[in-house]
Amino acid sequence: MWRTVRLSAQITMSSIRNFSALVQNKALINGSWVDSSTCATFDVKNPASGEVITSVPDMTVEDAQKAIKAAKDAFESKEWRSLTGKDRSNLLKKWHKLIEQHTEEIAEIMTAESGKPIAESKGEIIYGNSFVEWFAEEARRIYGEVIPSAVNNREIIVMKQPIGVAALITPWNFPLAMVTRKAASALAAGCTVVVKPSEDTPLTALAVAKLAEDAGIPKGVINVVTTAKAAPIGDLLCKSPDVRGISFTGSTEVGKLLFRNSADGIKRVGLELGGNAPFIVFDSANIEKAIDGAMASKFRNCGQTCVSANRFFVQEGVYDKFVSQLKQRVESLKIGNGKSCDVQIGPLINEMQFNKVSGFVEDARSKNANIVTGGKGLSSLGSLFYAPTIVTDVPPTAKIYTEEVFGPVASIIKFKDEAEAVQKANDTRRGLAGYFYSENLQQVFRVAKRLEVGMVGVNEGIISAAEAPFGGVKESGVGREGSHHGIDEYVDIKYICMGNLKYD
Ligand code: ADP
Repeated sequence: MWRTVRLSAQITMSSIRNFSALVQNKALINGSWVDSSTCATFDVKNPASGEVITSVPDMTVEDAQKAIKAAKDAFESKEWRSLTGKDRSNLLKKWHKLIEQHTEEIAEIMTAESGKPIAESKGEIIYGNSFVEWFAEEARRIYGEVIPSAVNNREIIVMKQPIGVAALITPWNFPLAMVTRKAASALAAGCTVVVKPSEDTPLTALAVAKLAEDAGIPKGVINVVTTAKAAPIGDLLCKSPDVRGISFTGSTEVGKLLFRNSADGIKRVGLELGGNAPFIVFDSANIEKAIDGAMASKFRNCGQTCVSANRFFVQEGVYDKFVSQLKQRVESLKIGNGKSCDVQIGPLINEMQFNKVSGFVEDARSKNANIVTGGKGLSSLGSLFYAPTIVTDVPPTAKIYTEEVFGPVASIIKFKDEAEAVQKANDTRRGLAGYFYSENLQQVFRVAKRLEVGMVGVNEGIISAAEAPFGGVKESGVGREGSHHGIDEYVDIKYICMGNLKYD
C-alpha cells in the first residue's frame, strides 16, 4: 500500500513545523535513533488531505532482530534489573508528566496522521496517559504470597517475576493509548519491549518513545521498529526465542495468525481483537441517555474503535422514537479535517477502510436494507470521508450485521422481547463489548450476566478506563489490559519451596 521513498523529511517538515520537536523520522533501537539498514523509508500520510506528513524508516527483519537483542540485553542489564518497583514507578511517573506536558504537540501529530478530531486526540492522550499513571502506581504492588504449607518445616513462597522481552504490536485507531496501555504495564512489571506501531500512525508512537527517553527510561528498554512490511517482522516477533510475550491489538485475522505463530515457542499471548458490539435499547430505557450513549459509542473516532456499537437492537415500543432522534443527531454532526476544533467526524484511516465501509453499506442496500441517512462518500471533503450513516431493516445476512464495520455506520434492528435481543446479541463469534439501556433493575442484572462479552456498558456508551480490565471473550481475544489484572500479562508466577527449616 505504501510507496517506499527516499527520506523526504525536509520537503514535508514545513507542514508539521508546529510540532516538529516531537516528530521523529527515525526508529529507536537501543537508545539510538536509527534509519533502516537498507535506508528505505515509507510515507506517513494525512488521511484528511492525502498530504505526505513525513517518512519513517522501513525497517527489515534484521533491524527487528537488533531491536529484540537490545531489549534482551536491557532486560539483563544491571541498569534495569537492579531497579526496584519504586524506581520503575518513578520513571513511569516522569514519563506520565512529560506526556501530559506535551499534550498539544502529540495531539497535533495524532490528528495529522490518524485524521482523528483534535478534541478526541487530546482525549486519547489523557486516556492513554492514565495507563502510565496507573501502572506507575501498580509497579509497587506486584505482590507475591506466602502460602501455609502442609508440612511444618516448609514455607511455600510465591513471587511474580517479569517474563522478559515483550513484543507490542499496535493499531492505528488509538495510536498512543494502545502503546501506553501495553508498554506501561510491561515496564511496571520489569519487562523490556519492542514496539511495532501501525504503519498508518508511527509518529505518535515515536513521539511517546522520545518522551520515555527524556524521562530517563534506560536505553534498550523501549525499542520502536517502524515498518511497512508487518508480516515478516510479526513472524520474527512471534518466533524469536528471545521474545517471551506478544501483546497485540488489531484485527481478528492477524490476531489468529500471531496466536498460531506463537504456539511453537509457547509464548505468553495477549490479544485484543475485533468486536461486533450489540447495543440494546429496551422499552424501559431512558431514550435521551440511550441516544447520547449511541452517539458516543458509534461515532467516536468515526466508528473506528473495536468497542464501537456495531448492531443496534431496539425494542419495538421505542423503535420509531429512537430512529428519528438518532437521525436528527447524526445529521447534525460536523464533518471535516480534524484539526478544526468543531469537527466531530474525520476521514476514515485509509482507502482499504473506505472501500470496506462503503462496500458493507452497498451490500446491505442490495439486500433491501433501508438507508435512513448517509450511505455515501463525501468526495468534496476528501477521498476518505464517508457520511455518518443509519441503516434500518438490516437482514441477518448483511455484512454490517455479521462483521465489524469499523466506520460511521449504525445498523438498527427491531426486536420484540428480551430473550430475542439477548439471543441475537450473542449470535456472533466475537465478544468484546456490549451495551444496553434499561431502567428495569431485574433486567439489568439478567442481561448483564447473559451477554457473551468481556465488557458491558449498562446505561453507558463509553466504558474504557485504566482502572478496569479491558478485553474480550470468544474470538475477541485473550488476556486483559489495564486494571491490576494488566500486570499479569507480563509476569511469571514462581513458587519457591523453602524446605528443611528448623523452627524449634
Ligand atoms: P487493522 O485491520 O485494524 O488495520 P491489523 O490487524 O491489520 O488491523 O493491524 C494492526 C497491527 O497489526 C498493525 O501494527 C499492523 O501493522 C500489524 N500487522 C498487520 N499484519 C500483520 C502480520 N501479518 N503480522 C504482524 N503484525 C501485523
